[in-house]
Amino acid sequence: MGWFLRKKPSIRQTSQKSNFPSGLWLRCEGCGELILQEELRKNLSVCPKCRYHYRFSARDRIKLILDENSFVEIDQNIKSENPLHFIDKIPYSVRVKEAIAKTGELDAFMSGSGTINGRAVEIGSFNFSFMGGSMGAAVGEKITRLFERSLRNKAPAIIITASGGARMQEGAYSLMQMAKTSIALKRLQEESIPYWTLLTDPTTGGVAASFAMLGDLILAEPNALIGFAGPRVIQQTIKQDLPEGFQKSEFLLTHGFLDSIVERNNLRSAFVSLVNFFH
Ligand SMILES: [Zn+2]
Repeated sequence: MGWFLRKKPSIRQTSQKSNFPSGLWLRCEGCGELILQEELRKNLSVCPKCRYHYRFSARDRIKLILDENSFVEIDQNIKSENPLHFIDKIPYSVRVKEAIAKTGELDAFMSGSGTINGRAVEIGSFNFSFMGGSMGAAVGEKITRLFERSLRNKAPAIIITASGGARMQEGAYSLMQMAKTSIALKRLQEESIPYWTLLTDPTTGGVAASFAMLGDLILAEPNALIGFAGPRVIQQTIKQDLPEGFQKSEFLLTHGFLDSIVERNNLRSAFVSLVNFFH
């Protein structure tokens, strides 16, 4: 099979790139301009030139929204089992172990209690870098418990999504989480306890089709991909060209699926206004 192997590296560094020490600068995915890594970090991973929003970790998001040092993580030891003994290229249990090693988190969702402007909230956030933020039984259980705490404490529930949807390695178990979380949410609704979601890039599949879109208020970050099936699948199915910006936050806002698009540096003040208003 040796004739398939490349003898030389096929991609050469462009001269432009080699002028800059790696790790110090990056070329923005939004505008193509060079930006200092440090400047990007200070600006909450938003390009200072074009406002392109880079992905942000679950922990950073919670820290950004809550009052300083108010977050108490709960259910951090809940992690995925391998109920179907699923194996694709590698066993699912190995995949989970690799994700834990890569991210330092036990699953794709973290949650806990905290305060915003001194008012109690229950909050949870997806970590896209853990198996694409996919939802298995562990994630579903943590979300359900978050809603139950919210009900007990009569505190607003907040969920920040970044997910490819249900975790296919858990088959029907992962699909059941859509119903399980939605039922828990119904009880919050009956008690008139507010539930707000912030959809970030990307929010798709079973997550989009359940609690993400069930918020009393649904916020999103600019230019986030939000939808059930991917655009290519839809295009192939309906055999029509899709409109410009299809499944992006701005498109969804103008079609009534979102309540507001909030830039990352306004997130904290948006949630402060919400807790003050609904208290
Ligand atoms: Zn940019």
